Amino acid sequence: MKFDVLTLFPDMFTSYLREGILGRAIERGLVDVALLNIRDFSRGVHRVVDDRPYGGGEGMVMKAGPIFRALQSVERVEGYGPVVLFSPQGEPFTQDMAWDMAECRQIIFVCGRYEGVDERVRSTCVNMELSIGDYVLNGGELAAMVVIEAVSRLIPDVLGGERSNLEDSFENGLLEYPHYTRPRVFKDLEVPPVLLSGDHEKIRLWRKKQSLKRTRERRADLLQKAELSLEDKAILEELT
Ligand code: SAM
Repeated sequence: MKFDVLTLFPDMFTSYLREGILGRAIERGLVDVALLNIRDFSRGVHRVVDDRPYGGGEGMVMKAGPIFRALQSVERVEGYGPVVLFSPQGEPFTQDMAWDMAECRQIIFVCGRYEGVDERVRSTCVNMELSIGDYVLNGGELAAMVVIEAVSRLIPDVLGGERSNLEDSFENGLLEYPHYTRPRVFKDLEVPPVLLSGDHEKIRLWRKKQSLKRTRERRADLLQKAELSLEDKAILEELT
């Protein structure tokens, strides 16, 4: 999977891309991240990438030209996916979208800065606009890191034997059950005895119950959409 990231601050990515699971995936050639500095596609000695907004007002707007030329320079690989503009006004990013993106061979990201990008970038250069939440960041770089990480961990072999993503929150439309590790007692709080019982079926049922309970308490909206099994429905009934 190749990610091409258009940004004014490529150095923001360097230590992040070296660390942890993602760093190892890059080392193993499972993921490739190419960083393009939008400034390299500006024209003139001053390498200008932004300008004042037409109509007046505060702040600067990223010019369309350098972004357009940077995008033109990206070689598309077979099976390429969307060209994504990060924006607080975009469609909210979800785990389902991460799965769809994990099917692609290449995704291109455009990171905005300042007041955002010239509106014409939206209509001529990109085919998806994504938000990572209802708040405003200074730039799209953190959003790109969020999406790269969420998508990469779904690519086969990236997590390796370390752990599975299949029980993670959102995978079956629910939040995941709680986890415990040693010590058995921490500040007078004991690990639930069932987890020490060695009875796999009881543990499975306890986890299912916790997952449903947690989802109902914290994210009732997810429960409305989740595909619930007969067992799930029976547990929910029992919980009421
Ligand atoms: N003036 C814009 C608005 O109010 O919609 C906000 C611009 S923001 C300061 C600068 C850049 O940060 C955006 O162009 C976008 O790339 C990125 N950004 C900010 N918040 C974001 C979010 N919630 N999700 C994704 N990208 C975001």
